[in-house]
Amino acid sequence: MSTPSPSPLPGANLLGGRLGNIVQSFHANALLQGDEIDALETRLSADGWREAEDLARLDHLAHKLAGSAGSLGFTTMGRDASALEMIVRLIVRRRGDGETGLGAAERTAQAALLARVLVDRIRSSRPEDSTLDLERLESPGSDGPRIDPKVVVTLGLEPGLLADLSLLDIILVEVETLVDWAGRVPLPPVVAVIDMNFANREPTLIQFLRDLPRETTILAVGGSDTFLWRVRAARLGARTYLPHYDAKDLLDHISRIVGESRMGPARVLILEDDEILATLYTAILTEAGMEAEFLTDPTPILDHLSTFEPDVLISDLHMPGYSGTEVAAAIRHGGQWATLPIVFLSREQDLKLQIAALASGADFFLPKPILPEFLVSVALDRADRSRALRNMTLRDPLTHLYNHTASLDFLDREVTRARRGRTPLSAALIDLDHFKKVNDTQGHHTGDHVIQTLARLMRSRLRMADILGRCGGEEFLIILPNTPMDRAVEVIDDLRRAFHALPIETPNGPLTLSFSAGVTGLPGGVATDEASSLDARSLFKLADAGLYDAKRGGRNRVAAKSF
Ligand code: GH3
Ligand code: MG
Ligand code: MG
Ligand code: MG
Repeated sequence: MSTPSPSPLPGANLLGGRLGNIVQSFHANALLQGDEIDALETRLSADGWREAEDLARLDHLAHKLAGSAGSLGFTTMGRDASALEMIVRLIVRRRGDGETGLGAAERTAQAALLARVLVDRIRSSRPEDSTLDLERLESPGSDGPRIDPKVVVTLGLEPGLLADLSLLDIILVEVETLVDWAGRVPLPPVVAVIDMNFANREPTLIQFLRDLPRETTILAVGGSDTFLWRVRAARLGARTYLPHYDAKDLLDHISRIVGESRMGPARVLILEDDEILATLYTAILTEAGMEAEFLTDPTPILDHLSTFEPDVLISDLHMPGYSGTEVAAAIRHGGQWATLPIVFLSREQDLKLQIAALASGADFFLPKPILPEFLVSVALDRADRSRALRNMTLRDPLTHLYNHTASLDFLDREVTRARRGRTPLSAALIDLDHFKKVNDTQGHHTGDHVIQTLARLMRSRLRMADILGRCGGEEFLIILPNTPMDRAVEVIDDLRRAFHALPIETPNGPLTLSFSAGVTGLPGGVATDEASSLDARSLFKLADAGLYDAKRGGRNRVAAKSF
């Protein structure tokens, strides 16, 4: 926590200086807006509330305050502004309909009164009155890691069922009771696999699992495939329920969940024209452990999407020049972002806009004023689903590695990055040796098992930053960012040796196999123009040529091919 400021706000102590500052700047701005509303009210009252420009400006100011004051912990100010906004809109609309007379006079009197109330409210407010309270937000930053990303706990499962989990770089802890769990696992695990038969005997289990952080994924197994058992699994908070399962199913699910959790914190892009609000949302989300960035103008959003690669977009509905719906449509038109979840921020009164937004594919509406916990939970939830969905479309179902198209897209992206940053980059193409024979003699099922085993081995031995793809049947592409070619050759050769030394269990006994690989790389420090011929395609071709050399040279070897 930062040191207390000279005149500490109650909020500032809880929130740290950053959020205290946001409240201060909101308040300073509100005072200026209050002065302007004061002047507008005086002018409008003098000319019978006729001047269209003044009315529009008053409407704009009231609208802005109505959206922001509540979010910053000034609830009554927000309501006052909202009331003023409604009456001003009514005046404008009725005037447009040509209505005059007694009703009109009453409305303008009411508008004048509401404007005075709002101005008084603003002037008598102090920053320290803000009720903004983020104390209840879970903050991984201040408490250290909340889960152990390497630990998987199984509760009540047959011991030894998941013997080869070490290939995933995972520590497996098998426990029989909750006491055992508490004693042996200091931090919550990344995955908890719960046998439902066990769950029935353990009345405190539901509460125990509820107390785990949301980063722990619960997988329920066993029992039987009926509605009742599914509901029971849901009560445990299970993300997936596998009534019938075997070791392979479990391994697949665990490897996918672990893969998703290793993607790092959820990334959220915020689009909000009010800079103070944008800063507030960013601070709330970062406080809750996410990566958040904001734009106050949508014009550069397409570029921003491709550099930041958010999991979810949170966008205001009202922005000068563009509506949130138009921005959503523009984003969705480009195929790459067609599935990006978009959450709109809007006030209840915006019903018409909300309906239009639904038609443009809105995923959710967050009501303004914003509740921090609500913002955090919606952002996390959408990001999770978006990642899971993206994983399904980008990944190969057999191995959960990136599929052919995704791998080549990543190669493109990494080549661009490497050239821009003048960093080295290597790529390796791997192909199993005499794999046709495995299929022919052992069957396709064993063939699949071999492919999965190699995929797991790759995942466990390569760095998190390395990108692993399955390019064809038994062909794999590995992209190694920030790695010079000679180092990549060493890494891939270690992998080759480990694979060759690994007995692969089959119904007909253990099998020893091998692969061949071609490795190539861009050297670091290459100026962009010099390297202009070095694109993803030529890199891939070189790796392929290396692979050909390795096959011709006798297989079970790595061949390097430099530019
Ligand atoms: P080489 O050492 O020259 O690479 O010999 P090979 O037999 O591995 O090469 P080839 O390309 O002729 O054969 C690849 C075989 O991989 C063909 C096919 O039977 C098998 N295969 C491709 N995709 C899959 C898959 O998804 N599952 C299984 N079980 N086999 C696959
Ligand atoms: Mg706005
Ligand atoms: Mg092949
Ligand atoms: Mg082959």
